[in-house]
Amino acid sequence: MERDKSLLDFNLSDELIEIAELIREICEKEIVPRRAELDEKEEYPFEIFAKFKEAGLPAVLYDEQYGGMGAGLFAAVIFAEIVSEYCLGVNTAISATKLCALPIEHGGTEEQKKKYLSAFASGEKIGAFCLSEPNAGSDVPNLSTVAIKKGDRYILNGVKQWITNAGVADVYTVFALTDKSKGPRGMSCFIVEKGMKGLSFGKLENKMGIRCSHTRQVILEDVEVPEENLVGLKPNRGFIHAFQTLSSSRPAVAASAVGLATGCYKEALKYTRQREQFGKNIINFQVVQHMLADMAVRIEQARLLTYRAAKYAMAGHPEAAKYSAMAKYAASETAVAVANDALQLHGGYGFTKDYPIEKMYRDAKILTIYEGTSQIQKNEIGAYIIKEAAALR
Ligand SMILES: Cc1cc2nc3c(=O)[nH]c(=O)nc-3n(C[C@H](O)[C@H](O)[C@H](O)COP(=O)(O)OP(=O)(O)OC[C@H]3O[C@@H](n4cnc5c(N)ncnc54)[C@H](O)[C@@H]3O)c2cc1C
Repeated sequence: MERDKSLLDFNLSDELIEIAELIREICEKEIVPRRAELDEKEEYPFEIFAKFKEAGLPAVLYDEQYGGMGAGLFAAVIFAEIVSEYCLGVNTAISATKLCALPIEHGGTEEQKKKYLSAFASGEKIGAFCLSEPNAGSDVPNLSTVAIKKGDRYILNGVKQWITNAGVADVYTVFALTDKSKGPRGMSCFIVEKGMKGLSFGKLENKMGIRCSHTRQVILEDVEVPEENLVGLKPNRGFIHAFQTLSSSRPAVAASAVGLATGCYKEALKYTRQREQFGKNIINFQVVQHMLADMAVRIEQARLLTYRAAKYAMAGHPEAAKYSAMAKYAASETAVAVANDALQLHGGYGFTKDYPIEKMYRDAKILTIYEGTSQIQKNEIGAYIIKEAAALR
């Protein structure tokens, strides 16, 4: 099979390039024929997950000592980019497990890592990450879910909003206040398992896009969580776990935006090459070529920034969080713009479900909202800029 040439310039290992080829092959075979129906019926991609599991792909996202391939964050970026080129909904459902795993990776005990990360790496368990609440979306410090210590357990009460994989997942990393007087610094992260008494889920949200990825509320009513399920066994460290999680997950979200934009761009190329108006294929109009050129340039800019953010995050670079925010902001806005132009180039046909661009356009919008809106990314970038400005003489 031909090598995925777009990856060759980034010094990726042969192993990672082979993995990329395998992911693409499975996406072509398993996602392309099913994505429209899954979207229409809001069906969770269990069968696609089974194929990914069969091929050992969940392991790509985890460290070797927990049954993973140890390919690092760059592998997660490549994974997200390729899968999202085919379906952002499938990628969102898969990435939510990794998002659930990240607080455990960053702050969990060895025992917690062995128990949960191994189950995620084998594809045996699905995860969900529960930070947002009805009144605490961008305003994470305003969260109100509480965890009160009672003997050797914590009693959790609260509602988590917009939780990807809620109801489907086996494991939930839930952020709750263990010391209200400390505000967000009194937040802790707990591992909650499906089946624990008092854990229930809201209605399936009827979404505009990424409809095969299920989103529901997670409702906690006197859920008794054993103290060994407190991530890292130390209370009031949740804020750090959440910050580390979002800094390291954002390059992969940016990559999913690059992937979706690439998918839209390819659809636009296919369509404009065959659509004839005024006696020629519309790709021959210079205005159309300019639109395609803008799309290609924006995608490549977003990809380069995303790969840099991933490299910085992997190296623990001091500006890793800033670059993650920059990549997430740039790539998600690029995805929305490229999806818009790609649909425009399909004319009226793009407005129907007969062409994949209609779904891609609907899917794209979530990228500027979840894991921190574009405005929040810019707030974070702005905070770094203020520091830089203060350091100038
Ligand atoms: C499909 C989907 C899946 C999701 N999956 C998960 C998940 O798995 N786990 C999870 O924890 N969360 C998840 N989320 C939640 C997501 O991260 C939040 O929706 C997002 O952070 C925005 O919060 P909000 O919806 O409350 O909007 P708000 O915070 O109310 O924002 C509304 C608007 O105000 C703007 N705004 C708010 N504050 C500021 C400010 N300080 N400066 C400038 N502008 C501001 C925002 O940018 C936005 O435009 C998901 C959301 C969706 C829709």
